[in-house]
Amino acid sequence: QNSLLSATGTTIFTVMSALAVQHGAINLGQGFPDYDGPEDVIDAAAAALRDGRNQYPPLTGVPELRQAVAAHNRRFYGLEADPNAEVIVTSGATEAITACLMAVLNPGDECVLIEPLYDTYLPVVKLLGAIPRLVRLSPPDWALPRADLAAAFGPKTKAILFNTPMNPTGKVFTGAELAFLADLIAKHDCYAICDEVYEHLTFDGWTHIPLMTLPGMRERCMRIGSAGKTFSLTGWKVGYITCDRSLAPNVAKAHQNLTFTTPPNLQRGVAVGLMKDDAYFAGLSTSLQARRDRLAKGLAEIGFGVLETRGSYFITTDFRPLMAPLGFNGDDVAFCRAITEEAKVTAIPVTAFYASQDAPGHYARFAFCKGEAVLDEALARLRAWV
Ligand code: PMP
Ligand code: GLN
Repeated sequence: QNSLLSATGTTIFTVMSALAVQHGAINLGQGFPDYDGPEDVIDAAAAALRDGRNQYPPLTGVPELRQAVAAHNRRFYGLEADPNAEVIVTSGATEAITACLMAVLNPGDECVLIEPLYDTYLPVVKLLGAIPRLVRLSPPDWALPRADLAAAFGPKTKAILFNTPMNPTGKVFTGAELAFLADLIAKHDCYAICDEVYEHLTFDGWTHIPLMTLPGMRERCMRIGSAGKTFSLTGWKVGYITCDRSLAPNVAKAHQNLTFTTPPNLQRGVAVGLMKDDAYFAGLSTSLQARRDRLAKGLAEIGFGVLETRGSYFITTDFRPLMAPLGFNGDDVAFCRAITEEAKVTAIPVTAFYASQDAPGHYARFAFCKGEAVLDEALARLRAWV
């Protein structure tokens, strides 16, 4: 009971998924596809399972996957990294985030975080005894508030942890925003932990730019990817970190003490995935964009305010236009509970992504990484309910 984690509640994703099961609701809350990833990736993992690849792999990952991560960095971003000294495979991006924070933060160091933020960030920063400095983005455009960001950096700043393309906002950081960030990071001589799990899920011509590719950022960034998102295999929990050789030993030691290794058979599957042709990666975003459009159009027709989504699995909606017609005047938690229990469709209350009390309380996040029939059925249920 009496631990630093006592103040951390059960993650909203687990809470809402359990509620969805309890009420027989379509789960557009927790972000996971209801379709499988590429067959050749799954076949490669299955073959490795049958091929005796079932004992501890090397600590930093199987060589095939580290080489594939390096090749992927070069192909998509022109980023050179030594697969033997600058790539570390982890058990999901979740572990990668913790390992990177552990690698650089000491108690009392400050870590800049951007709200809304993914729910593991803050508890881990606090657990390490570091001090979070929160900078808030505001809807509907979620632009970077440059003065606030500059003010959050100071002599004690050791790192910034941020996410682009961003959950839950669908924001994709622009080149100009990243350049502004890079300037602050260099000026304050600190590190960036870059959660880029949605790197291949961008829409409408928006492209992901890793901060690590900006001038002066090669040695300061820890770039995180996830097979869960890139191959629609969220249960696999295979993540990968690319960082400079000066940082990698500390990151590897964190990984050593967290999980030590990651299932070798799954790693072999992911290695095949990262070597897939460009058409695969383009097709992934095209197919998700169509799902986004289908859900966004339907939600707008029902009367939700639909915010623009440039990347990720998620649409953020403003449900205020529905409040008067429905006679509803609760907050986002009550709204997500009501649609789960009554309309039988689950969404995530966006206040779950804020640390402070005065978060905007009228947004609900819907995941669109689902089959068309499921999206249509969810829309039909919501339409019947309003
Ligand atoms: N970061 C963000 C922003 C996420 O949305 C998620 C959830 N999928 C993760 C990290 C965790 O990724 P993984 O499942 O690979 O641990
Ligand atoms: N990243 C997923 C989301 O935002 C959930 C991951 C989890 O359940 N921890 O929905």
